[in-house]
Amino acid sequence: MDEKAAAADLMQMVNGYQVSQAICVGATLGIADHLTNGPRSSDELAAATGTHPQSLYRLLRALASVGVLHEGAERRFALTNLGTCLRSDAEHSVAPWARMVGRAYYRDAWTELLHSVRTGENAFAHAHGTGVWQYRIDHPEESGIFDRAMSSFAPAIAAAVLAAYDFSRFDVVMDVGGGQGALIAAILARNPRQRGILFDQPQVVDGAGPLLRSASVADRCEVVGGDFFVSVPEGADAHVMKWILHDWDDERSIAVLKTCRRAIRPEGTLVVLEAVLAPPNEGARAKFADLNMLAVPGGQERTEEEFARLFAAAGFRLTRTIDAGPRISIIEGKPA
Ligand code: SAH
Repeated sequence: MDEKAAAADLMQMVNGYQVSQAICVGATLGIADHLTNGPRSSDELAAATGTHPQSLYRLLRALASVGVLHEGAERRFALTNLGTCLRSDAEHSVAPWARMVGRAYYRDAWTELLHSVRTGENAFAHAHGTGVWQYRIDHPEESGIFDRAMSSFAPAIAAAVLAAYDFSRFDVVMDVGGGQGALIAAILARNPRQRGILFDQPQVVDGAGPLLRSASVADRCEVVGGDFFVSVPEGADAHVMKWILHDWDDERSIAVLKTCRRAIRPEGTLVVLEAVLAPPNEGARAKFADLNMLAVPGGQERTEEEFARLFAAAGFRLTRTIDAGPRISIIEGKPA
């Protein structure tokens, strides 16, 4: 590639934030849902979304220029394959995540990435004067948008995890930091005689009822609110933790694991679900998720060796790692 072409490619990467924010705005306005029944004109979409017609048109034509929408004659817009993934009812809907990523408080943390790189400190705390979890407690609207974003990944991830790992040998499975219960619901639905415990912060599990009921597992799933740095319920023989350790530095991760170690049955199993970092020059998704962890919650993604060290420091030994797809590996441990 000559330098001119390289510069053009690089420029596209540099301006990628513009594409991202335009998609986030489209998702926030629910444009894709308004196109479910077929193409509509830009003016119709402006009326349906209560937006400024000419400015909305500029947004839509830009989205069409990158293939998220298709612009036909007379400013009529239709969904493409990409745009279909922004429908709320899409099986792999990206809309809840796009709505979250576009929030100002979240972008503000990324704006301070330079601070993290210079100092090693968490960008979010630098931008907002408080950590992301406390911020979301103080801003319930943001908490709701975040919880819906996390839940939206759940069906695809749960399917990948259940295909790769057999939970049927456990009597009681606890999902530690299980959000609104999507994963534990999928595990229990697959294993009809199993009981479950959903554990997360009180204000998060408060919203868990509908999901557990719609999966018909509410009668087999205890819902417990609390703080995993203090204690988690006893009695489970599997402790599942999905996308928890990557939120925290080593010291805090070891603290959560030690809480689990105290509560888990002696013959119990730790089932950590996280991305595992690839060798150099590969695996962009996890490596950018890692930067997201640096900027937003102040955590990190890890290699298998790094997980083994965390486990050992908390009294577990790593028994095996199973690759369950691009975003998730199953890192299994037993009390040492
Ligand atoms: N396991 C879920 C959610 C991951 S997000 C999923 O994969 O979708 C991290 C979760 O950790 C959030 O639901 C958050 O509420 C929870 N969390 C953060 N701090 C916590 C604490 N101190 N005690 C319990 N849960 C906590």
